[in-house]
Amino acid sequence: MFKRRARPDPQVVRTDAEWRARLGPETYRVLRRSGTEAPGSSPYVHPSDSDGIYRCAGCAAELFLSTDQFDSGTGWPSFSDAVTRDAALIRTDFKLLFPRREATCTNCGGHLGHVFGDGPSSTGQRWCINGAALTFDKALTDPAEAPPA
Ligand SMILES: [Zn+2]
Repeated sequence: MFKRRARPDPQVVRTDAEWRARLGPETYRVLRRSGTEAPGSSPYVHPSDSDGIYRCAGCAAELFLSTDQFDSGTGWPSFSDAVTRDAALIRTDFKLLFPRREATCTNCGGHLGHVFGDGPSSTGQRWCINGAALTFDKALTDPAEAPPA
């Protein structure tokens, strides 16, 4: 048995040219240039009917559970929390006139979106995430796809 480290260091390190070659232009702009997609442009804006997990589009790290997703009405995929405390890093950015809390993927450093404190759930958090930074994996145990008992 391997003992897993409690807090992984960023494990995916690529040059800018490598990222540019690997990612589509919109995903590259969001993840590697801290871009923001147009509101309503992501297929992930509204919570999926299927349970599953959202992964980083840059490195496939697990980031958000579909069960933590909600419809915020903002036009961006919104979550009440990350899948684990270590999945995403939060730091303050000052790109606008007011400070915001930027969320990045711990594993590859890619920009995901921002975290606000006006969420409707018990966490009080609203993770406002660019869908271009995510891929969605349906759960293998999705009851909608399970054979009838
Ligand atoms: Zn990542």
